Amino acid sequence: MVKSKGMEKRYEHQRYEEKIYRNWKKSGRFTPPPYHPGEKTFTIIMPPPNANNPLHVGHACFVTIEDILIRYHRMLQEATLWLPGTDHAGIETQYVFEQKLKAKGKSRFDFDRQALYQMIWDYVKENSQTAIMQMKRLGASADWSRLRFTLEPDIVKDVVETFIKMQTDGLIYRDLRLVNYCPRCGTSYSELEVVHQEQNDPLYFIKYGPFELATVRPETKFGDTAVAVHPKDQRYSQWVGKEIEVVGLLGKFNLTVIADELVDPEFGTGVVKVTPAHDPNDFEIGQRHGLELKQIIGFDGKLTDLTGPYQGLTVKAAREKVVDDLKARGLMTQVDENYRHTVAKCYRCGTILEPLPRPQFFIKVKSLTQLALKALAKGETQIYGAGHDKILIHWLKNLKDWNISRQIVWGIRIPVWYRIDTSHKTQATSINNQIIVGFLDKEKKLVKGEIGKLLESYSFEEIETGLQMLMAPPEAEYKVARAKPGANYLQETDTFDTWFSSSQWPVVTLQAPGNKQQDKSKVTDFERFYPTSVMETAYDILPFWVMRMMMMGCYLTGKTPFTKVYFHGLVRDEQGHKMSKSRGNVVNPLLLVETYGADALRMALVMSTTAGHDSNVGETKVKGMRNFSNKIWNGARFIKINREETGNKKQETSLKTKKYIKHLNQVVKLVTKQLNELKIGLAAETVHNQFWHWWCDEVLEANKRLEVSDAWLEEGMKTWLKLLQPFVPFVTEAVWQELYPQEELLMGQVWPAMEKKV
Ligand SMILES: [Zn+2]
Repeated sequence: MVKSKGMEKRYEHQRYEEKIYRNWKKSGRFTPPPYHPGEKTFTIIMPPPNANNPLHVGHACFVTIEDILIRYHRMLQEATLWLPGTDHAGIETQYVFEQKLKAKGKSRFDFDRQALYQMIWDYVKENSQTAIMQMKRLGASADWSRLRFTLEPDIVKDVVETFIKMQTDGLIYRDLRLVNYCPRCGTSYSELEVVHQEQNDPLYFIKYGPFELATVRPETKFGDTAVAVHPKDQRYSQWVGKEIEVVGLLGKFNLTVIADELVDPEFGTGVVKVTPAHDPNDFEIGQRHGLELKQIIGFDGKLTDLTGPYQGLTVKAAREKVVDDLKARGLMTQVDENYRHTVAKCYRCGTILEPLPRPQFFIKVKSLTQLALKALAKGETQIYGAGHDKILIHWLKNLKDWNISRQIVWGIRIPVWYRIDTSHKTQATSINNQIIVGFLDKEKKLVKGEIGKLLESYSFEEIETGLQMLMAPPEAEYKVARAKPGANYLQETDTFDTWFSSSQWPVVTLQAPGNKQQDKSKVTDFERFYPTSVMETAYDILPFWVMRMMMMGCYLTGKTPFTKVYFHGLVRDEQGHKMSKSRGNVVNPLLLVETYGADALRMALVMSTTAGHDSNVGETKVKGMRNFSNKIWNGARFIKINREETGNKKQETSLKTKKYIKHLNQVVKLVTKQLNELKIGLAAETVHNQFWHWWCDEVLEANKRLEVSDAWLEEGMKTWLKLLQPFVPFVTEAVWQELYPQEELLMGQVWPAMEKKV
């Protein structure tokens, strides 16, 4: 056999991948062609990966599936746009960044808002480059000229406008929600930052009307607004719904007995007091039963004026006094001195965190969910993914109002402004002067307290410049505005929930100015590409993201943001275990790309997968798929050697070519159908099996037997490379250039079914 010039025996991906990617990019085909009337468009908005994280195998999965669809539709000659972006991932990113600060002996409290924000910004910018580079290594043919970031000015502007529109439409309100508050640091913490610690504390059994009940926190009894039992607890069923009279330390009062699933019948006596203002579970119970929120611990960590003689005592001192007084009055029946339980502590100073009610901004979701449900009912959005359409409808029907306030710096600051009275005369009467602030003074020392009082010692400017956080009472007056409405206004320090901006992602990315239109037509990206074609993402973010995008898209534009949703499953390890750092079974997609090639990883990730179902991937599978890359390479090598040996003059002698043509046409038809129906895993299986077992094993052999002409073998190989390109773009492009160097790039070719029949 004559050795083929220029084609090695094996496909060496390292030699080709980066060069091929550069050529694709240079060709300009990642960007949609100029607008023309009547064009068919195909659009995917990329789920923005967190800007602070390197890519994991789940990302590699979405990149592959979306790239397959994008490449396919590009070959169908549609105006195809894959719009990439990255997400600031508020709480998570700030947390990761603060861990880095901690390693340097610093914390967020050493910086004012602007300084901290800028530092996180720089950190994220550096990191997001990594994620983008990794997606490129996988072959992502996204339009990088349209890359968006959730915190860039154009996006922030639109997100702020949305809030203003919702305020005008009466969809925004303020309400109380519990936060994890450290009275010592004067700030609230996200769940991620809370240190949960087991410890022993006394468990007190106290007389409570006709009952006896157990509590670790007798000092909160002044905030009780009900007692509760489990609905199935026979011991107390006759009490449910009745009012009881309780003799307490401040006199007699009445409470209703309620039944709630959250009560643990095994705890204490099975009866619990409900203190919605100071316990997360009780808060939830309170929400369900419409209980009053009675705040008896202030943000200074001391008991409030609702507690009579206990007012002004710290929680610790109040507990001691309450215990003594209960004992003295014979209201304490027993004490379990060594009760083991978990307490939430401040990661910074170790103080026990107080769950405290803090006003936050909410969106009324009812009208928004109705819009999304209507779009689903009309079939304007179709869901692909094993029953997740039903889950989505269930979520939409049961969604509670959406808390969009987050007590962090890293996000879009809520455009709400509080007017502060700086005249020093009316501070006692102005509700806004009761706003609690924390700020760094000129000496960079943290100062906190009510702003009205602080204005006696500090200027408004000093407070505003060093501001870290403010907390306005529920009755505070505020203005919603794009910019500072006047000299002595302070802006809300809460930022939007990350999902508030990402829920608008399809709208704001396409609306953002500066997207490069190659033509001079006045058609905007939004007019051209909205609603988008497919939203492809993991099913685990359905309620956070997909559902909210539907609600917000419908609300802002009157149209659902995507016609199809494709949910991919979780990628598990070879044994079917969830990948996790602690298990040590996390596969690094980049390492696999380096070892086996991007095509091998892509095939391993999609082969035989079904929408909505989890799949297993490990090194063995990827290794196996490298053999497929080699198979394609060798198929091409056969043709090249054949050319050199026979000059492509072999004719068929058996009149059998027709049979093979028919079969190939059927394969084309099947793959086309499967891709149109978003059966991507099946389509991958079809091209893999047919290429390997039919084309290589049968047709190439038939050519040797002169059942298939050389001319058609060349034609057939061209068709195959086009069919395979969306799945394994690198090796097919490499082969294409080996076999047909005079032709344009494979990625710019037309899909076989679109060609005239041979
Ligand atoms: Zn603290």
